[in-house]
Amino acid sequence: MILIVDDNQSNIFSLKRLLESQDFPVDTASSGEEALAKGLRNDYQLIILDVQMPDMDGFEVAETFAGYSKTKEIPIIFLSAVNTDKRFITKGYASGGIDYVTKPIDPDILMLKVKTYYNIQGQNAELKKTKQSLELEVKGRRETQVVMKSQLDHFQQMLEALPQIAFTLSNTGEIEFVNRRWFQYSKSDKTFPEVHPDDKALVDEFGRQRENLEAIALEARIKNIETGEYRYHLLRMSPILENSEAKNWVGTFTDINDQKRVEKEKDEFLSIASHELKTPLTSIKAYVQLLDRKLKLDKESPEANYVAKVQDQIDKLNNLITDLLDVSKIENGKLKMNLQPTNLENVIHNAIETIIQTHDENSVSIERHGQKPDFLMPFDAIRVEQVLINFLTNAIKYSPKNNRVIVTTSVDENDVKISVTDFGIGIPEYKQDAVFNKFYRVEESSLQFQGMGIGLYICAEIIKQHGGSIGLSSIIDEGSTFYFTLPIK
Ligand code: ADP
Repeated sequence: MILIVDDNQSNIFSLKRLLESQDFPVDTASSGEEALAKGLRNDYQLIILDVQMPDMDGFEVAETFAGYSKTKEIPIIFLSAVNTDKRFITKGYASGGIDYVTKPIDPDILMLKVKTYYNIQGQNAELKKTKQSLELEVKGRRETQVVMKSQLDHFQQMLEALPQIAFTLSNTGEIEFVNRRWFQYSKSDKTFPEVHPDDKALVDEFGRQRENLEAIALEARIKNIETGEYRYHLLRMSPILENSEAKNWVGTFTDINDQKRVEKEKDEFLSIASHELKTPLTSIKAYVQLLDRKLKLDKESPEANYVAKVQDQIDKLNNLITDLLDVSKIENGKLKMNLQPTNLENVIHNAIETIIQTHDENSVSIERHGQKPDFLMPFDAIRVEQVLINFLTNAIKYSPKNNRVIVTTSVDENDVKISVTDFGIGIPEYKQDAVFNKFYRVEESSLQFQGMGIGLYICAEIIKQHGGSIGLSSIIDEGSTFYFTLPIK
């Protein structure tokens, strides 16, 4: 809107008409005081100000407008009939006006000026708005930066407070942040701790796993800078994903050296204890057999029954000790497979026979399904039979209400798959992976059934050494299927 200020009503009238004819919105004031009041109240894009007015002249009005932030940037065109003198024109500019037009007014010239200033003022207003929004944006960004910085500081403080060595990596694998504990194992925040030469393969494995963008957990010995000692650490790393890509990695090294030492001592104890137990047990077994033969007891007599029970228990003890010995062999890398071309179907048949003979006739019913692997393939017959007997024994043991067990085989180009299905208690899904761990027993059933939780651990190692796979599917209260595969070649 344009404000016309003039004490002469006819001047106001003709100017108003002129401007309105060009579609400009117009407001008027007939004195300096009225102009000031309106200027502070309304928004004007241009003021056309008569210089000569009683009480407050145009220069004073302009000077007052220049003193207020709301009005100081409104362009002013002074109108004057008399003060054409250069002195007055200068005063007009000094008091804040932008232009000076003398009367009699040339309407065309005035309109050109009005249009120009009106446009400039419009553009100024636009610029001002843009500037304000830019300032807001810069402010917003600055605030975000401050927040991010404080979050980063907080995150780093948390990593510092961890009892582990902690670090972060960029997506390309460069170290970005390390906490203080890092420097116990590395001289620089740019290089990884030195890994024991025997654990180097783990480092390559780490590189391979990193490409899969999955959390990593590896054990390796790293060298303490001060003592020079290699200590076992558990390295864990997790990717921070963004749009299915790793933005960063967060990692920790946890010192598990003491734990490892205790574990080693326990393994050594197991190994020594099972060896020491095995020798007298072998003697007991031999003497009981001798006694049995010498006494020539009547098969139906209670004494014969006692001797049979003793032999039975000796066999159980013997199996337990053999399993424990196997565990220590696995720990020491001494469980070796003797691969010989063997007929797998015969081995399956033998295992089923052994189970039938060692169990009450009514307590088992074993069905044989699928394509029979009736051909020679390389494997360790004794060890594979051990796996089968373990699967079958478990199938019977963990199915107190249903004696049906199915052995299924399938043969494809590369492997034979052998499955043992039971209709027993089943295993909850979240515990299924763990059953192959050393000494693991499913809590729910561990009180009801005897066992040490090492049978499946040994089975997994035997199958692994054959280059096969092992696994299970199970539904609680419906039953389980344990399977393994063996490569044909
Ligand atoms: P053990 O039977 O001596 O405890 P295993 O290593 O053979 O040890 O089995 C580990 C655990 O897996 C068992 O304690 C049991 O909880 C579970 N399990 C194994 N086989 C079965 C099965 N067929 N059905 C249900 N649970 C089973």
